[in-house]
Amino acid sequence: MLDYTVNTDDEKIDINGIDYFLNCIDDLIELGEIGLFGACRFNLKNFSLVNDQLGRGSGTRVMRRFLDGLALKIGIDHVLCRLGGDNFVLLFHKASLDELRYYLTGQDIYVSEEETIYVSASAGIYMMPESGIDKHMIMDAITMAAKEAKDAPNKDYIVFYDYELKERDRREKYIHEVFAQALENREFKVYYQPKVNLKDYMMVGAEALCRWVHNGEVISPGEFIPVYEKSQAICKLDFYMLEQVCRDLRRWIDEGKPVVRVSVNLSRRHLRNQKTLNNILEIIDRYDVPHEYIEIELTETTMDQHFDSIKRLVTGLKNNGIASSVDDFGTGYSSLNLLREAPWKVLKIDRSYLPDSKKYDERNQSMLRHLIAIATDMGFECIVEGVETLEQLKLIKRNGCFMAQGFYFDKPLPVEEFEEKLC
Ligand code: C2E
Ligand code: MG
Ligand code: MG
Repeated sequence: MLDYTVNTDDEKIDINGIDYFLNCIDDLIELGEIGLFGACRFNLKNFSLVNDQLGRGSGTRVMRRFLDGLALKIGIDHVLCRLGGDNFVLLFHKASLDELRYYLTGQDIYVSEEETIYVSASAGIYMMPESGIDKHMIMDAITMAAKEAKDAPNKDYIVFYDYELKERDRREKYIHEVFAQALENREFKVYYQPKVNLKDYMMVGAEALCRWVHNGEVISPGEFIPVYEKSQAICKLDFYMLEQVCRDLRRWIDEGKPVVRVSVNLSRRHLRNQKTLNNILEIIDRYDVPHEYIEIELTETTMDQHFDSIKRLVTGLKNNGIASSVDDFGTGYSSLNLLREAPWKVLKIDRSYLPDSKKYDERNQSMLRHLIAIATDMGFECIVEGVETLEQLKLIKRNGCFMAQGFYFDKPLPVEEFEEKLC
């Protein structure tokens, strides 16, 4: 049943499109053979870089060789179609699954006598049941799995559609759908986690962390923040959080409490918006909160694509007396330049640099030492996040860091509990 036709002209790839793919699925269902096959949707990783490096003509030849190699590897019993660009769909015999996985994980493709280029793919796979499905369900399944595979860099680039994935997708849609109502119902709560000075063990600040109390259940940000980051919802949520923090600070100041600086997390989504700085200032000033009580945390992983916008925002904040911090420092890729270029006040070293009680990791500890040294030498306030044990605490002090945040002191606390510490 194969119809995989690659044009013999070396610089063209002439294979069937989506309609052909869907017709083949219909045929297989009608023949009662669908259960023998798996469906796969894949995307060639960073293929635009291959084109940039080799030029379009050679890029196309490389793509063709990759597809030819794939066809050879999984045998004749398959249908390969192109969705467009570097996106493909495939029906393959279930017996070829191992070969397919192995092949998509990456291959050196011949360019010339002197050169090969490494091509790999991210893919969603659905091993189809014998009955009870149609072409739309199959397309939905492989599209969902392929998206998951593409969105999960550093993890597994091949994702199978299964019950768990379906449930996750359902949950994600739900989280998304109820956002507006949840915001209106004030279901998002600010929890405050103290930051502690390690010289006198006084609380010197706090981080505002979001908790969602929904239908009696407390949902942690790890579940809903990534969903809201896919849309503008995260911006609304972040500003809502900032507003709640300002409202609390105003009340504490009015009650004569000795307040501390509170940091608020800001998602990368804000960086696309030119008005972010004004929006932040407008909220803070609406509550007449002195600017020195607010700090804005930006995660390090956000920094590569948004160098200029980050620089502009951090500079604007500083000019208005508001501190900015690099959150999760040491987990991103391109931060050193930005450390030099933008006027940060605080560096928050990620907890992954702390030694685990179970294993002693010398390289990690050496990096921790040097990250602290960079921060302090450059005149930043330096804080280590996620301190859980006395050993970790001693270690960071020994290495010259005198501020910490972590379960060793407190978990993120509901506002009433946190307030008790402000005295
Ligand atoms: P983050 O900003 O790096 O916050 C620190 C996270 O580490 C928090 O997780 C905190 O509860 C956790 N943590 C603190 N001390 C310890 C410790 O000793 N051990 C361990 N294992 N964990 C510790 P949480 O509250 O679950 O938040 C996770 C992430 O979600 C945050 O990481 C932040 O990136 C994001 N997030 C939370 N609230 C907001 C928000 O309002 N807006 C945005 N954009 N992101 C938020
Ligand atoms: Mg943070
Ligand atoms: Mg952090």
